[in-house]
Amino acid sequence: MPANRDGKYSHTAELKRQDAAHHLHPFTDFQDYAAHPGRIISRAEGVYIEDSDGNRILDGMSGLWCCNLGYSQPGIVEAVRKQLSELPFYNNFFQCANEPSVRLAARLASLTPDNFNHVFFTNSGSEANDTNLRLVRRYWDLLDKPNKRIILSRTNAYHGSTIAAASLGGFDFVHRQFETLPYVHHIAQPYWFKDGGELSPEEFGVRVAKDLERAIDELGEDNIAAFIAEPIQGAGGVIVPPESYWPEMRRILAERDILFISDEVICGFGRTGQLFGCQSYGTSPDLITFAKAVTNGFQPLGGVLLGDRVANVLTSGGGEFGHGFTYSGHPAACAAALATLDILEREQLVERVADDIGPYLQRRWQELADHPIVGETRGKGMVAALELVRNKHTRERLEDGGKAGAVCRQFCIESGLVMRAVGDAMIIAPPLVCSHEEIDLLIERATRALDLTASHYHL
Ligand code: PMP
Repeated sequence: MPANRDGKYSHTAELKRQDAAHHLHPFTDFQDYAAHPGRIISRAEGVYIEDSDGNRILDGMSGLWCCNLGYSQPGIVEAVRKQLSELPFYNNFFQCANEPSVRLAARLASLTPDNFNHVFFTNSGSEANDTNLRLVRRYWDLLDKPNKRIILSRTNAYHGSTIAAASLGGFDFVHRQFETLPYVHHIAQPYWFKDGGELSPEEFGVRVAKDLERAIDELGEDNIAAFIAEPIQGAGGVIVPPESYWPEMRRILAERDILFISDEVICGFGRTGQLFGCQSYGTSPDLITFAKAVTNGFQPLGGVLLGDRVANVLTSGGGEFGHGFTYSGHPAACAAALATLDILEREQLVERVADDIGPYLQRRWQELADHPIVGETRGKGMVAALELVRNKHTRERLEDGGKAGAVCRQFCIESGLVMRAVGDAMIIAPPLVCSHEEIDLLIERATRALDLTASHYHL
């Protein structure tokens, strides 16, 4: 194929060749990728990404759930530039600190619920969840409760890709690829559409929550260190729990002497209409995992927010905590986070998700429930999902089990929209800054992709 006038085609073709030859992508079938190389994303503006062939695509996923403020944020870029020119790096080991990390720690303490006053910085959500396991273990050791070792998590959870984080996660196909940590146990997830059967969502929510109580009784409260959960499971398919689920979980957690870790890597920083998802659901975690949107995705940064229950024990002696990363509190990443929080607050984006754009998205998204191929829509704030089905009344799936999502995703891209497929669930997490018109366009393009998917399956 000939190059276009500015030589773009040959440039793209060469990049794709090198990509296929040398680059192993995350969560990818390498053989398949080499045969079907991906698109090269070369620019982004507002809530749109652009590929090297010049296609402009509405980004319904905020990058990877991280660019919550969209791609045009000169304030964050300038803050990083300024920090890199003043102090591009210094670590926080050996009696040193750098200003952006100190200021960010204090800022997070002031923004979070009153009992959260400390933070440990990492580079990613995965590292933050590894850090959680170290903090939890340390906490119970310092309290002289060495038997409290078991961590409860949920099936179909996603907590990251290090050995510890992937053990916490609940993806069977991932667990089959390595030796998981032996002290992580998984309980049921509140996925009504898949597992609810004849129960109403509310009955199902309570029933599933009781699995936590059952597991604690079976394994012994004295042996359990912590329970980790996302307020809404994101990568598992945006599993918005029935309204009855978290109140029942809250009751059980309040009665038991185990720590609760809320993994807010996706829900944090406004996605659900509160700063954190735990605030949307009224739960009281002891530890909060964050990453992604804290820097609007412009720099890698994650961390753990520690509630006073844990922090008070860890800061009252016991000697050195042997854990940390070269880039814990990287100055440029922390500068990006401070600038991100400035924008989030100045533009009152969390309030906007609660009162304006969140309800608008949910109202428009719900209209898709009438589509013949859609079995359910669900969502909260600026995150939503729908289920592709053959029969919307019986919830019968399409015949090629789990592949319809990938078919629909391709039609989305061809329609100018990034939507993600998780099996046969289609999920979105658009930027919090989307205008009403951009949401309208998202719905229009999603509808076109659903129409094309329905005719593909002769529905
Ligand atoms: N926890 C949750 C809930 C996540 O969604 C993710 C990433 N999608 C992680 C942890 C891991 O974060 P990272 O990819 O930054 O390591």
